[in-house]
Amino acid sequence: MTKQDFNDALLGFLDASPTPFHVVVNMSGMLLNAGFIELDEKEDFDLITGNSYFVVRADSSIIAFNYYEGFEYILVGAHTDSPNLKIKPNAEIKKDGITQLGVETYGGVLLNPWFDRDLSIAGRVSYKSVDARLKSALIDMQKAVAIIPSLAIHLDRDVNISKTVNEQNHLPPIVSTCKDFSLKSELTKMIEDCQEVLSYDLSLYDTQKASYVGFNDEFIASARLDNLLSCYVSLITICSTQKPMMIICSDHEEVGSVSVGGAGGSFLESVIERMFPTAEAKARFARSSLLISADNAHAVHPNYADKHEPLHAPKLNQGVVVKVNSNQRYASSSETIARFLDTASRVGEPTQIFVTRSDMACGSTIGPITAAKIGIDTIDIGVPTYAMHSIRESAGSDDAYSLYKILLEI
Ligand code: ZN
Repeated sequence: MTKQDFNDALLGFLDASPTPFHVVVNMSGMLLNAGFIELDEKEDFDLITGNSYFVVRADSSIIAFNYYEGFEYILVGAHTDSPNLKIKPNAEIKKDGITQLGVETYGGVLLNPWFDRDLSIAGRVSYKSVDARLKSALIDMQKAVAIIPSLAIHLDRDVNISKTVNEQNHLPPIVSTCKDFSLKSELTKMIEDCQEVLSYDLSLYDTQKASYVGFNDEFIASARLDNLLSCYVSLITICSTQKPMMIICSDHEEVGSVSVGGAGGSFLESVIERMFPTAEAKARFARSSLLISADNAHAVHPNYADKHEPLHAPKLNQGVVVKVNSNQRYASSSETIARFLDTASRVGEPTQIFVTRSDMACGSTIGPITAAKIGIDTIDIGVPTYAMHSIRESAGSDDAYSLYKILLEI
């Protein structure tokens, strides 16, 4: 696969995946196409050596693996969720001739970039069907249906110095001037056999498509690069290799990973127990394998370079970033780092090291959580990006493909 084909397909995946539910549906489709067999957690697994499988939990987390009898696996972990605005259950706010939708922030949203965007709505709707059964359906409105207008500068002359965003008051988007607008009626119309919408998990998203940016297409700009870029790289890797590999793409990382499908929950452990049913086998698997926790890293921003540790400031298009934190906010150890760097240099790919400034707090990710729960040696890595948690993030066009090449060889 050439870098151009790889990146073109990445942009398509980003556009087709506005919520974790859509991420998992798209990943499942690609895994089925690649010959993977879907397992149901409610049924026996009946695994056969040499086959490849995947399991979905709660519609928004997915694990796929090439099954083989030995214990030495490469695991790649990523997350399917991204910070966004979610629609509240009693959504409509009617005021000043306008209907707005009440929204709740999900995760650490960078709020200012959400203003003045053409927003759409996607997610899962749970409903009673015309034949009185409880069902769920994924929806993606695709067209722009909402916008959060800025206040004009004439009404707030200090805005460029002191704009603050109140999450309750300033974020509800406008959606209609129709007096009897109802979101649930709109949803009912969209779902063929829907009698009544009972509940939903819906997010706003930007309708602007992912694209290349730069005089030579050096950059990729999109929503949800954190962390669909890593989901996509892990997916393409496992679809291109027969080696003992497992990928784990979990929901709810942005809110702490504690959920039924999150990395802090029981999903991975349960799948491992069914692959390796004895305590002996499970322990041998955990201690023989390596987890590569792939989540984007902060590239040094030329306008804000002093936010980075000068000797550990990753740059776009200069390779995958290895994340180090001695307080275990990242799970990388000197041994797992050595293994990763050695593989990268064997395949001729550059790497960079990130350490946060000593006077700043360090972020974290699924690496340390999974390392602690499963007892597996782990390295935290990621592709350098700008504007993490903005509605539009940017990355280099070389680095995702570079990560793919390393993961194939490690
Ligand atoms: Zn992330």
